[in-house]
Amino acid sequence: MAPAKEHVVVLGAGVVGLSTAIRLLQAGYAVDIVARDHPGDELTVAFTSPWAAAHHVSVATGADMRLHVFDARTFKVMSDMIRNENDVPMFFTPQLEYREQPRATGAEDELSQLSLMSRYHPDFRWLEPHELPEGIQHGASFTAILIDTPHYLPWLVQRFTELGGRLHRCGTLNSLRDALAVHPSLLNVQLLVNCTGLGAKALVPDDKVFPTRGQLVIVCAPWVKKGVTRLGPNGVYDYVIPRPKSGTVVLGGCAERNSWDPKPRPELARRIKERCLAMMPELLPPEKRAGTIDDLDVVGDAVGLRPTREGGVRLEVDYTAIPGVPVVHNYGHGGYGYQSSWGSAEAAVELVEEALSSAKSKL
Ligand SMILES: Cc1cc2nc3c(=O)[nH]c(=O)nc-3n(C[C@H](O)[C@H](O)[C@H](O)COP(=O)(O)OP(=O)(O)OC[C@H]3O[C@@H](n4cnc5c(N)ncnc54)[C@H](O)[C@@H]3O)c2cc1C
Repeated sequence: MAPAKEHVVVLGAGVVGLSTAIRLLQAGYAVDIVARDHPGDELTVAFTSPWAAAHHVSVATGADMRLHVFDARTFKVMSDMIRNENDVPMFFTPQLEYREQPRATGAEDELSQLSLMSRYHPDFRWLEPHELPEGIQHGASFTAILIDTPHYLPWLVQRFTELGGRLHRCGTLNSLRDALAVHPSLLNVQLLVNCTGLGAKALVPDDKVFPTRGQLVIVCAPWVKKGVTRLGPNGVYDYVIPRPKSGTVVLGGCAERNSWDPKPRPELARRIKERCLAMMPELLPPEKRAGTIDDLDVVGDAVGLRPTREGGVRLEVDYTAIPGVPVVHNYGHGGYGYQSSWGSAEAAVELVEEALSSAKSKL
């Protein structure tokens, strides 16, 4: 076996840290993860990844073509994983996207969210006028990917450890440098990758990072196999995302900028249930199809905080945060950390290669 390349620490064990750590191991590095929260821990609002539903339905537009590239790459990687790995908790699903606004024209249309997705979803098609429900001006149908997050995160941990990675627990760190003191074997690592999501706001610190609050209602409806999103003006949107392995369905949503409120609000939960049931009556079992939201089999309400960043994901080498140890930042994935995970992990590995070869050339 070839000797491992340099020793790298990844700070953070969410979907971004785990995917990055796996790609680093596959590139030949020795990798340790250090994190306060690990998959399988009791849920806390400080750890975003376990809250996401999640699906791969890109939100990239022409305003962020780098995100489009990450999402397209991740769609390819995840599709291959579904086809080639028996036990991966991800699934193809029929997806309907409804828009209350008219379709744009010209260049604006070419770089819209749906048009960009049409470039890599093989069965993408625009909906015909007769397929549009009342109040919907345009829409699309295609096969999307569902990521059953309560099962996918432990799956990533297992993949990481099978590849030889080691996972360490720490408390809330106050500086990036503290990550190197979590275990004696980390004192001489050559590089740190920072995947701390919302934690980066205080840790880096980075004022561009802020929470975008999402509230969800989780219902038991194992017969629901398709996803639907309805987007209105002013950012109002509803979505239904099945978790096939768990037999539950996630209803959303909201996107409240700069709200740290960790508690579900009953009036918002009610609105989410009403709007989602109107959009998809099949959320009720066949014998209750004409029922109301009181007939939904609600498993729980949830709140997660998306780690949003003005200007998008920070992917950058930082030579000043820890003297003598380059830091590669990979945080700020907002509401798209799963669907961009493999693309942004591979971009981070390229930065690691660059930073370490530049350090070697200076010796
Ligand atoms: C309601 C909701 C729905 C969503 N739906 C989707 C979806 O459908 N598709 C999609 O792609 N994305 C979705 N997302 C977004 C996605 O969940 C996030 O982008 C993603 O989980 C961010 O992952 P992360 O690894 O960057 O951060 P996190 O999962 O928060 O992980 C951060 C890690 O860093 C550690 N850490 C942070 N600070 C410190 C510190 N100071 N000291 C020590 N350790 C620290 C934490 O303990 C943790 O291990 C959704 C999010 C929400 C809330």
